[in-house]
Amino acid sequence: MTCRMVLKRMGWVVWGVLAAGVMWGIGGGVWAREGGEAAPRVVRPGATDDAPPSDAVVLFDGRDLSKWEHVGGGAAKWKVRDGQMIVVPGTGDIVTRQSYGSCQLHIEWMVPHEQGGSGQHVGNSGIKFQTQYEIQVLESHDHTTRPEGQAGAIYAQHPPLVNACRPPNVWQSYDIVFLAPKRDGSGKVVEPGRFTVFQNGVLIHHNAKILGKTGGAPPPRYHDHAPRMPLLLQDHGHAVRYRNIWLRQLGA
Ligand code: MG
Repeated sequence: MTCRMVLKRMGWVVWGVLAAGVMWGIGGGVWAREGGEAAPRVVRPGATDDAPPSDAVVLFDGRDLSKWEHVGGGAAKWKVRDGQMIVVPGTGDIVTRQSYGSCQLHIEWMVPHEQGGSGQHVGNSGIKFQTQYEIQVLESHDHTTRPEGQAGAIYAQHPPLVNACRPPNVWQSYDIVFLAPKRDGSGKVVEPGRFTVFQNGVLIHHNAKILGKTGGAPPPRYHDHAPRMPLLLQDHGHAVRYRNIWLRQLGA
């Protein structure tokens, strides 16, 4: 082998090493080393996609209301029967005993078949994150109301992207990602809250901006409250049922 051939072969080796280095960098080898990212925490999923995963807080498993109380304090007065909790109209809203910030919530609900109701007066209830921000529960399969007040609406702020409702007396689900509003040292909201919601597996809100407390006189505005607050289920005078409620806390 001549000296020239040796140099040529060495050239190919150098090019090969350089190319491998570039590929390794593109593939994340360099980034992964320098970033020092920890491996994602292991969460064991439930046996089915609606069953609570290993890191979930189970808020209602069909047995009792031990995780809940009346909004004004004292025992929650809703009924528990056949693995369901049922609104007893007139007994008041109920809230979780614990408080939460950003979270992922799974909840199943069913509105009763009611004769003669209309608008907001058919199967009305609601899920209020931090007692402030409501995802509406309503009979919106057979009844119409204003879009920003129908089932799945971020109440009085955003209608759902589509109407994915099932009829009365049929179970439905919400899978909700709630990002709590962020505040500065003085309590001023510097980043609004956000909702992403699936109803019966269908996307009905994608990173929608929460404009403030839902309901009340418009325009919506944020009220002062603690970074963590209870989850509230609304007694709006209708015997709405809930079951299989679990939550995963997000963030620190
Ligand atoms: Mg409501």
